[in-house]
Amino acid sequence: MSKFDHVMRHFINHTEENYLKAIYALTEQSEKGVSTNSIAKILNTKASSVTEMMKKLSDKELVSYKKYYGVELTNKGRTIALTTIRKHRLWEVFLVDQLSFNWDEVHEIAEQLEHIQSEELTNRLDDFLGNPKFDPHGDPIPNSKGKIEDHRKKTTLSELNDGAVSTLVGVSDSSSLFLQHLEKRNLKLGTTIEIVNHFEFDRSLSILVNGSEQNISQRVADNLIVQPK
Ligand SMILES: [Zn+2]
Repeated sequence: MSKFDHVMRHFINHTEENYLKAIYALTEQSEKGVSTNSIAKILNTKASSVTEMMKKLSDKELVSYKKYYGVELTNKGRTIALTTIRKHRLWEVFLVDQLSFNWDEVHEIAEQLEHIQSEELTNRLDDFLGNPKFDPHGDPIPNSKGKIEDHRKKTTLSELNDGAVSTLVGVSDSSSLFLQHLEKRNLKLGTTIEIVNHFEFDRSLSILVNGSEQNISQRVADNLIVQPK
């Protein structure tokens, strides 16, 4: 175990790890620092609790906070966020591939497993699974050095034009409710989707999947990540 790992396990708790993960996710979506309001929203908590936590995390040098700019992860904070994400996604692969869980059942369990601190366990799990690059929802898995190698451009189904054919490679929402919704519509990773047309009125779509036509809402289309063919 590295010295770093040893120090971390004593002063980082689950809640703090979840904050770092949330800030990381929000950072990916914005050019600027992350606002406390957006953190509060994603973690379903009050802005005042977030402010308090930001003080704690900045004392531990895991985030830096600049007025009018927002919150940013320090290198240390980013490492912990990526390690937590790595564990989360590896456990999801394990649950689906080895224990036959369905892809809509694993997120909540992985939320718990991601807090196990053993770096040795994580690396052995990674090797055991054959060093997978993506989790069951199509999200890239950071390697042991915290690097995410995902060269795919993120395109959502809603960005494509009528007539476009694409492959479903990921989902932006891994909640069981959403994934069950997709299953009922025969939408899985690897499925080919052809856009028949967009309805101007509400931007819902008519799509062709496995030879049958169906309608999906704009909200669903926004959460589907596809690779155009
Ligand atoms: Zn997950």
